[in-house]
Amino acid sequence: MLAAGAGTWVVGSALVRCPRCSGAEDRVIDSRTSEDGAAIRRRRECLACGRRFTTYERLEEVPFVVVKRSGQREPFDRAKIITGMKAAAKNRPLPLSALEQIAVEIEEGLRLVGPEVGSQQVGLAVLEALRGRDHVAYLRFASVYKDFTDAGDFQREAGLLTKVTTPKTGATRAPG
Ligand SMILES: [Zn+2]
Repeated sequence: MLAAGAGTWVVGSALVRCPRCSGAEDRVIDSRTSEDGAAIRRRRECLACGRRFTTYERLEEVPFVVVKRSGQREPFDRAKIITGMKAAAKNRPLPLSALEQIAVEIEEGLRLVGPEVGSQQVGLAVLEALRGRDHVAYLRFASVYKDFTDAGDFQREAGLLTKVTTPKTGATRAPG
């Protein structure tokens, strides 16, 4: 279970204040889920005084439902997304902690869409997240998600990826 003593619990969209200067503006350095998956632990840095502190947010109790293509509804399951990404990220520089963080971001983003999202939206959100992090994992996930039928599909997607990510000027991207 989560040790709540190590940080401040934040409920819903309540304003977070710095424990040192009460400043209301901070940036999130790191977000990850608690061991039981029910809360998000965030490391924050106060923009006013630089103090670092931790908050815990219980995920909203509002039901969040995924509608499958068949019309079947099921509760959103972050573990499922992580499992799907794990297969795509095998032997890639994407540790479990990174996948967990991606899944949290995806859930937060989709919850803004509504209490119900289509399974396609979930798939696209995963694709979008992977594309920005690892091209191989992205293509692997895309090959499953988009139900590629032959090598031509795969090549087309790979071509698309190259087009999108190769700068025309030939300038090198800054690391990070
Ligand atoms: Zn502060």
